[in-house]
Amino acid sequence: MKNIVILGSTGSIGKNTLEVARNLKDKFRVIGLSSNSRWELLSDQIEEFKPTYIALNDSKLVEKIKGRFPNNNVKVITGSNCLEEIVQKKEVDIVVSAVVGAVGLPAAIATLQQGKILALANKESLVMAGHIVMSLAKKNQILPVDSEHSAIFQSLQSGKPGEIKRVIITASGGPFYDYPREKLCDVSPAQALKHPTWQMGQKITIDSATLMNKALEIIEAKWLFDLKIEQIDVVIHPQSIIHSMVEFCDGSVIAQMGMPDMKVPIQYALTYPERKALSVKSFDLSSIGNLTFKKPDMEKFPALKLGYQAAREGGTIGAILNAANEVAVQAFLDGHIRFTEIVSYVEKMVNDHHFIKNPCLEDVLAADIWARQEIKNALFKRIN
Ligand code: NAD
Ligand code: MG
Repeated sequence: MKNIVILGSTGSIGKNTLEVARNLKDKFRVIGLSSNSRWELLSDQIEEFKPTYIALNDSKLVEKIKGRFPNNNVKVITGSNCLEEIVQKKEVDIVVSAVVGAVGLPAAIATLQQGKILALANKESLVMAGHIVMSLAKKNQILPVDSEHSAIFQSLQSGKPGEIKRVIITASGGPFYDYPREKLCDVSPAQALKHPTWQMGQKITIDSATLMNKALEIIEAKWLFDLKIEQIDVVIHPQSIIHSMVEFCDGSVIAQMGMPDMKVPIQYALTYPERKALSVKSFDLSSIGNLTFKKPDMEKFPALKLGYQAAREGGTIGAILNAANEVAVQAFLDGHIRFTEIVSYVEKMVNDHHFIKNPCLEDVLAADIWARQEIKNALFKRIN
């Protein structure tokens, strides 16, 4: 029996993780939950899974949850360090990091320092500080939840690290892959939030439309699998059936496939190295018909170029790229900037920032704060 904590339990990955835990009650006990949204859903989760701990940063949520569970049978951890505190509880075996954004970094670090398994969906923590996160991780202490990285992790089991020629990360291309380039500046948040193959949270859905998600995944792959930039390729595969591939030195290419369903990589991260039964939509190639592939268009989707630049140059660029992107995506969702301006603003922040080659954690966090403030200033000037 393993004790798990889910950071971001009311989100898309969080809910899928609870579904996996619900189906494997004899293997997993949910002892901790955390969220900063949707208190009714969180209350239902508390009622069903009866966790020992809840971590809540939002004081309004604390009041509501304490009101709903007045008998103190759930311990509520509050304050800005609540995620780090909950992962450090001694009973915890596995932490599923399913929060969105930079808030995941300190909790990822605390999880690894405590020697616990980190099932990682929060790619932002690797994008910001992959060199720090990976230096703390023992072999297989971080298990990827991102579907592409789970696919690479599974495919890598066919060979040894020295035998890898390259990885090929697949991308659905998002809703605008075939959309006319000159009309991209006019797409609305509602259009951008319609992902063709995956149901996800808002931020990652917009990242998938700009292809910034793939940029973040290039950086994530570099750190997780210790790859050189020349070993990371991206291919557009609109059906999202092949979740990614590894080409070995003998020319063999191993792919992991399946219907798009995040429960598959989540469950594999939780049960690794074992596999357990999971009921998923049947895999019927004849009804899928065609699997198609295209070269990514870096001119139409400049986020990809930024992803390669950040992966190549390292240092503080990842933190800047991530923070600027978080703010720009929110500004687009709030109707303040155009779709194409998301990546333009990120690029400007990456170019303007004071680069540090080997940043410590404080440097990374300072770069994050700088980028947020700088882009907010730029947006403020624009809007007013
Ligand atoms: P989401 O927006 O649906 O959920 C985010 C969750 O994090 C919510 O429960 C929210 O309350 C919580 N949260 C946000 N800020 C918090 C804070 N400060 N403290 C505590 N909780 C906080 O997002 P999602 O789509 O589930 O994505 C989560 C992460 O997983 C992201 O890093 C994303 O890139 C990654 N990911 C998601 C998918 C997917 O299919 N959704 C696939 C691969 C990777
Ligand atoms: Mg992914």
